[in-house]
Amino acid sequence: MNAHAPLPAAGCGVAIRPERGQRAVFCGLTGIVWLHRKIQDAFFLVVGSRTCAHLIQSAAGVMIFAEPRFATAIIDERDLAGIADMNEELDRVVTRLIERRPDIRLLFLVGSCPSEVIKLDLSRAALRLSQRLAPGVRVLDYSGSGIETTFTEGEDACLASLVPGLTDAGPAAADELLVVGALADVVEDQFSRIFSELGIPARFLPARRAGAMPAVGRGTPYLLAQPFLTQTARALDERGARRLPAPFPLGAEGTTGWLRAAAEAFGVDPARFDAATAPGLGRARIALSPYRAKLAGKRVFFFPDSQLEVPLARFLSREMGAELVEVGTPYLHRTHLAPELELLPDGTQIVEGQSLDDGLDRCRAARPDLTVCGLGLANPLEAEGLATKWSIELLFTPVQGYDQAGDLAELFARPLHRRTRLEV
Ligand code: SF4
Repeated sequence: MNAHAPLPAAGCGVAIRPERGQRAVFCGLTGIVWLHRKIQDAFFLVVGSRTCAHLIQSAAGVMIFAEPRFATAIIDERDLAGIADMNEELDRVVTRLIERRPDIRLLFLVGSCPSEVIKLDLSRAALRLSQRLAPGVRVLDYSGSGIETTFTEGEDACLASLVPGLTDAGPAAADELLVVGALADVVEDQFSRIFSELGIPARFLPARRAGAMPAVGRGTPYLLAQPFLTQTARALDERGARRLPAPFPLGAEGTTGWLRAAAEAFGVDPARFDAATAPGLGRARIALSPYRAKLAGKRVFFFPDSQLEVPLARFLSREMGAELVEVGTPYLHRTHLAPELELLPDGTQIVEGQSLDDGLDRCRAARPDLTVCGLGLANPLEAEGLATKWSIELLFTPVQGYDQAGDLAELFARPLHRRTRLEV
């Protein structure tokens, strides 16, 4: 786990309280579901148990019928009893996989709880297989185990594993902006257009193809597009890159703040910035206004899940006029989230970590108008008469940027709307 940096003293009046206990969250393997769609020639091979295979299949839903680029190499009794050489088994599975899927250029060996517990050395396996399969296929490893990672931290671990292999940008390192975090292609295209209108050369990590990953080097300015990229940011810092502090691009205000951080770093003229952002900002405001009427004054409770909770709470309170009862987050990176914390209303209650029963008690006592939580809690809370929003949808739906601001608000307004329609 990461050491907590002190909270920046920028006058933010939020109350942050740690909590420990039983947790109801996904493990990091879930990230594969959106990452495999983003990097189009990568394959994710989980080295784990049948439990892991079940998890991925249920999280991916109908996607499993579309010859997806992920699978599980199941550790069975022979492996556990030490009868089979696991490294030989793994090599055999990978060789067969590459023969069957010659389109694969990048293979991730994804560690799980069982592979961690029996101390299977996946980094050595990745190195060995990379040498064997070079130059056609590169093999990397990261852990998505529930012991080490919560939900979106799987993406963080995956992207961090890419960083050491990025080409060195050399003396031109500072000339190009790096946008870090998997964004839906449509969102990436919109941001690319805005950056080019601002005159900022921008590249994205991860790229859509294994061979097109951006270069990085001393002085490369980078913007995090997601709040959960702790390890990736650290790996980039080690390469000499420089993080641009910014709020996250959720909602009109967050998107403008995020773009402005890049514009300031590249010395973009304020008039040019206004001209480039005004159309998107205008569209976002129009799209948001009908939802504001539905969400204003509504009391919202966030259970910890994805680390997106703080930026989402900021969006709901400032742009939608919602009231924040409690904002739970599995982990709070004080420095990366500092610009967000400053924008939260004074007195906002943030809970870092989870003690499930205590959280449920507080939620039941508060009877919020809307509860944002994982799938495990959603239906039981609905049965108790509470409207819920499944937080996983916020990862599967394009929500960043001006043109998605209305869709983001709609995700929160929908459960409230459905309730009123179902009430007779
Ligand atoms: S990695 Fe761990 S938590 Fe995740 S599905 Fe496998 S056994 Fe369960």
